Amino acid sequence: SLVRLAAAPRLESEVPLPDSAIRALEAWGARPGEILTVCDPQQTFYRARLSSLEPGRASVVPFEVFARPPESALAIEVYQALPQKERFELILQKLTEVGVARIVPYRSSRSISLEERDCGQKKSHRWAEVVLRASRQCRRARLPELFPMLGWEEAISLAGQADLKLMLYEGDAPWTLSEALDRERPVRIALLVGPEGGFTPAEVEQAGHLGFLPVSLGSRILRTETAAIVGAALVQFSLGD
Ligand code: SAM
Repeated sequence: SLVRLAAAPRLESEVPLPDSAIRALEAWGARPGEILTVCDPQQTFYRARLSSLEPGRASVVPFEVFARPPESALAIEVYQALPQKERFELILQKLTEVGVARIVPYRSSRSISLEERDCGQKKSHRWAEVVLRASRQCRRARLPELFPMLGWEEAISLAGQADLKLMLYEGDAPWTLSEALDRERPVRIALLVGPEGGFTPAEVEQAGHLGFLPVSLGSRILRTETAAIVGAALVQFSLGD
């Protein structure tokens, strides 16, 4: 959660923040006057103004209760083959805005070249910062869980734990996304997005054995970042909120 209060607040009253929240706000470079999303132990979410932030002391003034929780009840997990350079940062930013719960970069057989992968990893220190900035901008109450890069086997075995597992497939997919979403009401849904070079036939087969449904997002081939963002947004607006 971005900022968690120790008790339910009174609106328009100043509430001191616990040490953990002060440390987080200092690390983010927050400034007095900034509007934050805070939540109380009953999971009620508020908009609050940061009224003071000094070393070891900070307080907020909650001024509005969210009519609806700002977090979706649907946990969307996106398993993304690491694309070239800045494209992954775009994916991180947009998936955070769309409200996904988890983002997992992975490498697969047709992932980009080794040099590009290394370059992507060198920049990985920026990933958490990108997610945090996007979360603050769209006032999320919870940061999406961001994993370090996994191998293909680790990624599909983690994704395999979701209730509904979809492999976004640009080939001849037997399902459209809407058909796959009509089948059930999942709590956790995993989207597996392939690299620029696409999935290999062996990867499609292996994912099929683990219960992933190959789904199409339409008859055009999308870039990997478009597929991730569009796929997650369609799922959120179909089954989540
Ligand atoms: N190299 C492949 C080709 O030319 O056929 C295209 C791979 S595409 C750029 C990268 C990834 O985006 C795919 O592996 C898939 O996960 C996703 N994707 C792209 N277009 C899609 C579509 N129409 N439906 C579902 N997924 C798609």
